[in-house]
Amino acid sequence: MNGSVLVVGGGVAGIQAALDLAEQGIEVFLVEKAPSIGGKMAYLDKTFPTLDCASCILAPKMAAVLRYPNIKLLMNSEVEDVTGRAGNFVVRVLKRPTYVDWTKCNGCGICTQKCPVKNVPDDYNLGLSNRRAIYIMFPQAVPKKAVIDARYCMRLNPPEKAKKEGKTLCGVCERHCPTKAIEYEQKSEVIELKVAAIIVATGMELYNAKNIPEYGYGVYQNLYTNLEFERLVSATGPSGGEILRRSDGKHPKKIAWIQCVGSRDVRFNHYCSAYCCMAATKQAILAKEHLPEVQCTVYYMDIRAFGKGFNEFLERAKREFGVRYIRGKVVRIEELADTKNLRVVYEDTAESYLRVEEYDMVVLSVAITPNSRLPLPVELTSDGFVKLKDPYLDPVSTTVEGIFVVGAVAGAKDIPDSVTEASAAAARAALIAKRSMAREVRVLANGGVLNG
Ligand SMILES: Cc1cc2nc3c(=O)[nH]c(=O)nc-3n(C[C@H](O)[C@H](O)[C@H](O)COP(=O)(O)OP(=O)(O)OC[C@H]3O[C@@H](n4cnc5c(N)ncnc54)[C@H](O)[C@@H]3O)c2cc1C
Ligand code: SF4
Ligand code: SF4
Repeated sequence: MNGSVLVVGGGVAGIQAALDLAEQGIEVFLVEKAPSIGGKMAYLDKTFPTLDCASCILAPKMAAVLRYPNIKLLMNSEVEDVTGRAGNFVVRVLKRPTYVDWTKCNGCGICTQKCPVKNVPDDYNLGLSNRRAIYIMFPQAVPKKAVIDARYCMRLNPPEKAKKEGKTLCGVCERHCPTKAIEYEQKSEVIELKVAAIIVATGMELYNAKNIPEYGYGVYQNLYTNLEFERLVSATGPSGGEILRRSDGKHPKKIAWIQCVGSRDVRFNHYCSAYCCMAATKQAILAKEHLPEVQCTVYYMDIRAFGKGFNEFLERAKREFGVRYIRGKVVRIEELADTKNLRVVYEDTAESYLRVEEYDMVVLSVAITPNSRLPLPVELTSDGFVKLKDPYLDPVSTTVEGIFVVGAVAGAKDIPDSVTEASAAAARAALIAKRSMAREVRVLANGGVLNG
């Protein structure tokens, strides 16, 4: 029966769409390119404007995905090709090898402690800490299964000398795995799916701040992106939640947040990234909660506090936590050679004055960019977000019938808006799936002949 729905992307939006569909008894294929679902929300410490723990909200939803037998997870996978039309799409999915048989892996983590390759930058901590060549993406990963990173594994990618000599190296994880789950010979496979509707939920990436040389990201040690700051402040982060400077491991005394880095700037992206004013406010409050003596300053063009409870959150940051907001455009950042402190040079736009202030840590509130380069027949806007059929009256439909779009890939947005869209798209996709299923039942009842 072609009554299934494909959800591409397992962030909070894709998870919500999959759960809503599964609840209605619809078969869902959830394709995720990473080894765990969760998306960017899984990297966050707390969420604005309530300061709820992000993983306490997300983890039960991630676990619920595993409880529905009608949600088929295709992890480490990406869509390669889509043909057909609403009610009858044919999708080819490329499933990359994990080199671990996930039907056997119980997530015990023994291999991740025994692997001798210890210096692999940990993507989950954005390179702020290291992991092994075999790893579980993060402690609450769903599914909680090990993956070998073939680029660093001595067995899968041995040094040239060993290759020439035909030597087989390592094999430590295989020897220690209690369930015999290691499969070095695993290969990619292509899976063909037939689905009635598709929901695109591939979310966003952060704009590469290295494209803005006057800020010195990637050069100055105590300069971070806001996602890196989320990891710094998180109990599962590189320093167990201690905010420490990269240069000397000391607590900062003065932190600045620079807003609109790559957003609302004709040189990079003209759109507002929507989440970052509140994210900076949240992070400044979290910094004050961790280090009550720290002085926090946010440099902004305009503060966008448009959502429910956002303005109250902003006022609370100023009043209760003493966060300083300066209306100013940062012109450049300079590192001081001796202390590795950072001098922020900015135009105070309230007083039309060029000013300078020194900080010992600076956080860049970077723009988001959509993950929209997909082999799907959807149209994109000039900014690269997936184009909506009608942003007012049909805000989750793409210009292709039967393909819907939700979350940050459709436009910059926060978690509540992403989840609302996901439920709306699930309802629309369910209609197509049920109609398609009913049609196939009619055809079967009619001896395989379609009559209306
Ligand atoms: C620093 C920071 C702080 C934030 N703080 C908050 C906050 O406090 N409160 C709040 O409401 N919002 C916050 N946000 C915004 C929030 O993260 C987003 O609104 C939310 O993550 C959007 O969810 P999504 O599912 O659309 O996308 P994502 O979370 O980006 O998930 C997309 C998923 O799709 C997968 N994917 C991508 N491409 C493909 C592909 N080709 N094939 C298969 N899978 C693919 C990705 O691996 C990922 O799992 C913050 C964002 C940042 C960067
Ligand atoms: S040791 Fe084996 S079962 Fe345990 S996490 Fe590693 S691969 Fe999985
Ligand atoms: S074979 Fe060796 S290097 Fe490769 S993942 Fe296993 S333990 Fe690590």
